[in-house]
Amino acid sequence: MKTWVATCPECGSADVVYEAGMMMGQKYRCQKCGYIGSFVLEKEIEVEKEVSGEHHA
Ligand SMILES: [Zn+2]
Repeated sequence: MKTWVATCPECGSADVVYEAGMMMGQKYRCQKCGYIGSFVLEKEIEVEKEVSGEHHA
């Protein structure tokens, strides 16, 4: 399956976390270079693992 990750436009790192913006909308912070902004590069990746949320017996 495919999913996407947010990557930093400054350093290209995928260590980008979402920070709730107030009225400004979405905001992201790069844990690598410290970039903060509403703009991130969305990179599509292929994942084999099933995402959590599946109900296991
Ligand atoms: Zn960065």
